[in-house]
Amino acid sequence: MLDTTPTSAGHVLAVLRAEGPLTRQELQERVGVSRVTMVERLDALRRADLVRRAGHRESSGGRRAELLAVNDTGLTALVADIGQSHATLAVTDLRGTVFARRDVWLSARHSPDATLPMLVGEGRSLLSGSGRASTLRAVGLSVPGQIDHEAGITTAPATMREWTGVRLGDPFVAAFDVPVLLENDANALALADYYAMGRPEATVVGVKVGTGIGAGVVIGGRAHRGETGAAGEIGHMRVEGSDRRCSCGRRGCVAAEASGQALVRSLRPSGARSVDDVVRWVSEGRREAIEAVYSAGKLVGTVLATVVTIVNPRYVRLGGEVGVLPPFVEALRATVEAGAHASALRKLDIAASQLGDRGACVGLSGLVADEMLSPTVVDALCGRAP
Ligand SMILES: [Zn+2]
Repeated sequence: MLDTTPTSAGHVLAVLRAEGPLTRQELQERVGVSRVTMVERLDALRRADLVRRAGHRESSGGRRAELLAVNDTGLTALVADIGQSHATLAVTDLRGTVFARRDVWLSARHSPDATLPMLVGEGRSLLSGSGRASTLRAVGLSVPGQIDHEAGITTAPATMREWTGVRLGDPFVAAFDVPVLLENDANALALADYYAMGRPEATVVGVKVGTGIGAGVVIGGRAHRGETGAAGEIGHMRVEGSDRRCSCGRRGCVAAEASGQALVRSLRPSGARSVDDVVRWVSEGRREAIEAVYSAGKLVGTVLATVVTIVNPRYVRLGGEVGVLPPFVEALRATVEAGAHASALRKLDIAASQLGDRGACVGLSGLVADEMLSPTVVDALCGRAP
């Protein structure tokens, strides 16, 4: 599948990305090519704007050798995390630094016909305001639900029914003329924590509990998507002892009991109207909210104990408005510790994501970086460069 040679420009960039900044000579030695070949490769990479100067290194002979690095700070991604009630757009570099950000509230049951053109417009204005429009390399989009990556089509959760069968990327390709990458929102979150931890050689499970519930698994630096993009869809697994009707049409799903939406419903008699109310009530110490969130953490923990036993991850990171609440984290941790195989718990580290509401944007910009700086894409770019 990889039509790149071990000494191609794409490969040189991959070495520089993994080990840089390096001098030309160091890079030449690492890749194992002649000086002439390396000069050629670097010329091609410079023409495609993929390398930058990164200062100097004093050599033993007193000469200063120029250091080279991947131009991940000079290239730009436009990312958007589209949820059930709001969307976050951001302009980032390929390191995940956020230069501009906008949060957009969406009406209940918003439709792609109205929302996608609006997000394209917001993205355009955000890009031009950031002054980085000319270095845009790709767009990254995340949504809840499954993505058919070959066809670029989404299967949204039942609460976003209008978003099923949508070619999400098309309006962005038409507007910006760059590749558009799609990812499930929980996968984007798991990737974000993986990147933020410095790309550890470890498996990371991300669990997102916001309006809905989803999980993502990062193995070997990539989101494990499964055969139909359904990997990690834990929200609609059945739990013992529940018969509550779920938005998906079945009964007894985890999401019907433990999602943000379910918490709002169970706290409605006390006056809760939104997930924000639930979050605020927990921070104010209101007992009914804390108890409801604790129960939700226990339920998701029951499912997660199975996930942990099967996947045996090093890190579980919790995100979403509900997922980071202390009673949720505490209940989930206790339930996983009581339910998972002892050996799978030995190195397990469960914590709330430290990325806050930046999570999906960081995950998407990393995804864009991995794709746009991959040897195959870089070789295609360098082949095309004048
Ligand atoms: Zn369901």
